Amino acid sequence: MPKYAMVIDLQRCVGCGACSIACRNENNVPDGIYWSNKITETAGTFPNVRFHYLPTLCNHCSDAPCVEGCPTKAMHKLDNGITMHDPDKCIGCRYCQYNCPYEVIYFNWQDPHKFWRNPKPVIEGGTSSPKEMAQTVNNGNGAPYSNPGRGKTLPENRPKGVVEKCTFCDHRIKVGEIPYCVEACPADARIFGDLDKPDSKVNRLLGKFKPYRLKERLGTEPNVYYIRSFNPAHYQRTKGGI
Ligand code: SF4
Ligand code: SF4
Repeated sequence: MPKYAMVIDLQRCVGCGACSIACRNENNVPDGIYWSNKITETAGTFPNVRFHYLPTLCNHCSDAPCVEGCPTKAMHKLDNGITMHDPDKCIGCRYCQYNCPYEVIYFNWQDPHKFWRNPKPVIEGGTSSPKEMAQTVNNGNGAPYSNPGRGKTLPENRPKGVVEKCTFCDHRIKVGEIPYCVEACPADARIFGDLDKPDSKVNRLLGKFKPYRLKERLGTEPNVYYIRSFNPAHYQRTKGGI
C-alpha cells in the first residue's frame, strides 16, 4: 500500500494561484471555502519589498488531530495515508475544525453554490436566471460547471451542515491520476508520490533538499513538505533603462 505525500518546491512556485483555481474546478468547491489556499506576506520597505507566497492545503497528517477528535469517525485515515471525510457520518459538530492547527477544514453554513439557486434573472427581461441556467445544464445540481467526476467518492456537492476539505483528489488517485493541483501547476512546483517507494520523486527531493513541514513541533506528522525558498536571480538595478 502506498503512503502518499506532496512536496512543494518554493523555488519553483511563482505564486500564480493556478493550483487553487484547479482545485475549485475539480472538486466543485463552493464560495467561501478553500481546499487549496495560501499564506502571503509582504516584507520590507519600498522599494526593497519582497512578496512571500506559501501554498497550503490539508496536510494529511499521520497523527491527525481532526481524526482523533471526531466522535462519529466521519473524519478518518485511509490506508494510503489520505485523511478522508464521510459526509453521511458527519453530524456537523465541528470538533475536527477546532482541533486542526492548520485551519484547512471548512463548515458548510449554507447550501452549496447559492448563486446558482437564485431564481431572479441577472438582467430583468433580458437573461435567464442562474437557477434556470443550472437546471438546463445539470438539473440544478450545483453550478453549471460542476465536475461529475468528484462524485465518485464524495457527494458531487457537499450538503449544508457538514465539513469539507482537501482529499488529495482521492477520486483521481483511485484511477491512477495525480491530484489536479499538481497537474495544473505551470511551474512543476508541486510533486506528488509514494513515500514508501525509496526511488520515488518525492523521496529523492526530500533527500536532496532540507525539507520542513508546517508546525512540526505539534507532532502531527504532516505529509505535505516544503523545500527551498524563492530566491530571485541576481539583477542589477537600473534607472528605468534596460
Ligand atoms: S500553481 Fe504552482 S506555481 Fe502557481 S501558486 Fe500553485 S504551486 Fe505555486
Ligand atoms: S464535524 Fe463531522 S467530521 Fe468533524 S468532528 Fe464533527 S462529526 Fe467528525
